[in-house]
Amino acid sequence: KLNYEHCNQLVQDFEKVVDSPIKSKTSVYYTGVDLGTACVVLSVLDENYKPVAGAYRYADVVRDGMVVDYIGAIKIVKDLKKQLEEKLNTELIYAAAAIPPGTDALDSGAVKNVVMGAGFELTNVLDEPTAANKVLNIENGAVVDIGGGTTGITILKDGKVIYVADDSTGGTHFSLVISGSYKMTFQEAEVYKRKSENHKELLPVLRPVVEKIASIINEHIKDFDVNEIYLVGGTCRLNGIEEIIEKKTGISTHKPQNPMFVTPLGIALSC
Ligand code: ATP
Repeated sequence: KLNYEHCNQLVQDFEKVVDSPIKSKTSVYYTGVDLGTACVVLSVLDENYKPVAGAYRYADVVRDGMVVDYIGAIKIVKDLKKQLEEKLNTELIYAAAAIPPGTDALDSGAVKNVVMGAGFELTNVLDEPTAANKVLNIENGAVVDIGGGTTGITILKDGKVIYVADDSTGGTHFSLVISGSYKMTFQEAEVYKRKSENHKELLPVLRPVVEKIASIINEHIKDFDVNEIYLVGGTCRLNGIEEIIEKKTGISTHKPQNPMFVTPLGIALSC
């Protein structure tokens, strides 16, 4: 059973240090680099695997899990690395990275080169759900990662990944719906969507897209014995998304306090 207390504590500690990094007497820092479709996140842990710093930037350098702007991606990771190094007054050497499941042969080279091109020594490349599960620690159930461009569905049995799938529906579609309904530009819709005070008003507008994601989940899990769904990914920050998914799938659905930081933290934990 998931130890949400541990997961929420880790995420909470991380949220605090994203705003104000902690100087630590650690002899080594571990960095997680999460190159996402919508967002690039760097998370830094000390030798005891406690969060000490973090930074993120919305970017358009990855699409459907593939690095589409290689130079842009290196620049962002380099910039965020430098920003964190200045705050921590140290050099960040070691980093791990993650790739969407199933893209290993296709693209892991690009992700590796981005992390190394930004000046890190790469210690590990793992798949995103495995990274998320370093924080969640679940044995059985489905981890559903609703990111910017995609929704990843991973089924675990006795702690092992037995099924993975990726569907190209994610937060970008939410912003497109808002943009259409409110006559906003995509960028304005993105900003509007991320403000939690707008979530109550947005939920009915976004319900059809959330229900579409729920039916995608249903389709993928139908042949498995899934009793719990665990939500991660930035799009799951939308208040109320968990209730719609739970209702539509009929499966008990959980989400940690800030689902956006689960995978980046898991990557750093695997460094
Ligand atoms: P992918 O997993 O598809 O590669 P990613 O890793 O960039 O994408 P995440 O960082 O997990 O995805 O999430 C980014 C998405 O989360 C974006 O679509 C963003 O608009 C959305 N998002 C971030 N914060 C919020 C919020 N507070 N409310 C709603 N959506 C949010």
